[in-house]
Amino acid sequence: MEHRGTDTEPSRIFGPRRPIWPSLRRLLGIVLAGLAVGLAGWSGFRISEQHGTLALRDESNHRLDLFASAVEGMVKRLEHVPATIQLNQDVQALLLEPRHALRVSRVNDYLRRLNAHLGSLAVFVLDERGVVVASSNSELGDDSQLGEDLSFRPYFLEALSGQVGRHFAIGAKSGQPGYFVSHPIRDGARVLGVATIKISLDPVDEVWDMLGAPALLADTNQVVILSSRPEWRYTALAELSLERRVDLQITRLYNNQQIPRFPLPVKLSIDEDSQVLEGVLPGGLPPDSDAARPVRSSTLVLGRTLDGMDWRLLIFSDLRSVRNQAVLNSMLSAVAAGFVLLLALYLNQRRRIARQKIESRQMLERANTELEHKVARRTRALTDSNTRLRREIAEREQAELTLRAAQDELVHVAKMAVLGQLATGITHELTQPLGAIRTLSGNALEFMRRGDLKAVQGNLQFVTRLADQMGNIIQPLKGFARKSLAQPAATDVAHAVSNALFLYDQRLRKEGITVHNRCEPGQIIAWCDPNRLEQVLINLIGNAMDAMRDTAVKVLTLEAVSDPACTPPLRIEVSDSGPGVPEDVRQRLFEPFFTTKEAGVGLGLGLAISRDIVREFHGDLEADNLPGGGACFTVRLPAAPDPEEEPTTT
Ligand code: ADP
Repeated sequence: MEHRGTDTEPSRIFGPRRPIWPSLRRLLGIVLAGLAVGLAGWSGFRISEQHGTLALRDESNHRLDLFASAVEGMVKRLEHVPATIQLNQDVQALLLEPRHALRVSRVNDYLRRLNAHLGSLAVFVLDERGVVVASSNSELGDDSQLGEDLSFRPYFLEALSGQVGRHFAIGAKSGQPGYFVSHPIRDGARVLGVATIKISLDPVDEVWDMLGAPALLADTNQVVILSSRPEWRYTALAELSLERRVDLQITRLYNNQQIPRFPLPVKLSIDEDSQVLEGVLPGGLPPDSDAARPVRSSTLVLGRTLDGMDWRLLIFSDLRSVRNQAVLNSMLSAVAAGFVLLLALYLNQRRRIARQKIESRQMLERANTELEHKVARRTRALTDSNTRLRREIAEREQAELTLRAAQDELVHVAKMAVLGQLATGITHELTQPLGAIRTLSGNALEFMRRGDLKAVQGNLQFVTRLADQMGNIIQPLKGFARKSLAQPAATDVAHAVSNALFLYDQRLRKEGITVHNRCEPGQIIAWCDPNRLEQVLINLIGNAMDAMRDTAVKVLTLEAVSDPACTPPLRIEVSDSGPGVPEDVRQRLFEPFFTTKEAGVGLGLGLAISRDIVREFHGDLEADNLPGGGACFTVRLPAAPDPEEEPTTT
């Protein structure tokens, strides 16, 4: 079954890869959080500033109202006085007959007492030409107003035209500022003169403190006539037109002094509305400011028009405390927003962690189930393959047994083939003693007929010896021909060599082959089956004899050596003086059924079977050519274990 279900992959569970988009999302989140905090701070600032400004405006308005009514009270308190002066008979009479000294003195006295009683700056009467005919300060002599021509003053002109004149002006002679109110003095419909009172504005200067902020009072010409800041005095809130300047020159309202522009750009329309000015307050710092450093500040300007007058009152409230409070509130809002965000983040994170935990557990469970299924599948597959392997092993063992049986059979067949080849020689070996036995037994019969029992006995003894000799010839053959299973044992190589040579004894002699057997009995003991080793040696000796059939020199050499440096250590060399093995033949030497011999002479199995036999005992068979000519076949075998070194068993 195929592996599926990507959600159970270990990398997903234990080592998640980090794609790019979550970090982008995080970045975006940080930016948004920053924006939210910034927005909260900004909103906090704006709202606090608005509220603070509103509160300050309300408070300033309230103070302004109080202040305005105080000023109105101070200024208007004496406004009605000029109207009452015409009621005085002396004044009327004086104006009708100005040169009457007694009347002048009486009116002056009246005016002086009136002025003293009212607490005004001056009270005086002008004739219809605008010349002061009587004054409260007549006792000052030359410094008094008497005789002064004030026809240029607007209050005179307005009263002459039958109206009440009122305006601010600086005294032409005294240089003292004041509020002038005038009233026509009539005789029926005719205006005889003008009664005027000059009211001091000093009391206003004493109550600036009740406003708690810089303030000013501007007259009809928008010229500041009073201010809590002396430097603002006699400045114009609006640009004075040329016409107005000429007019002021004539009327000398401000004693013809220079009227510069007011340093701040205030709106003239300010009444109930307020205006906010950005910048440093001119002419010094606000009263509550830190004198050590100039402060860039915003100023809230509020205005009020005095009731029934064109005078305007302006108050300049410092917005710094509002701004400071707004900054504080802005920071608080930002901190609160940050806290709320962090709280939200924390709660969200907690929720996510909880969800991830559940998901991880589910994934783990799924992975576990999948793993269990896999293990079960793999176990099943392993069990199946195990069973299959066992079956295969059993089959292979069976095949090996069959092969072994076939090999044994083949070895036996090869043995029989060798025996067949040996049969001629053996037969020849047996022919001679057999013939001798026949002759001896025939002679023995003859000796018996003759009654020569002694000769019979001698012949029979000789026959017995010959029979033993024949038995000795047959005995090795019996052993060799025996069908046996290979059993490794300690095998004396010299014994196996002499057995093999014995079987070929007759043929060796017949073919005139010189044998050099250099194997000493008991010297080289190999670990193999003696019968099988004999079979191998018989094969090699037979092949050597075949190879030397047509050569002049026929020498067969057998040698056994032990070389502990080699594996396996024992070497049995069978060399001949034949033509050697050609290269093409050498490559195919051990192939089954390869032979260069005529049909019926060789099967081509000798060397193949011999090598199989030797390898079965962990040895090997190699073929080589001798430097002086001839072939050399080497059998390598392991040495038999030393009996003295063998572990003793109990
Ligand atoms: P067979 O003897 O039946 O031919 P073998 O397997 O014993 O089969 O030998 C295979 C071949 O090896 C022989 O036919 C022969 O050509 C070659 N051969 C074996 N021994 C020798 C030797 N001593 N000298 C030269 N050639 C040899």
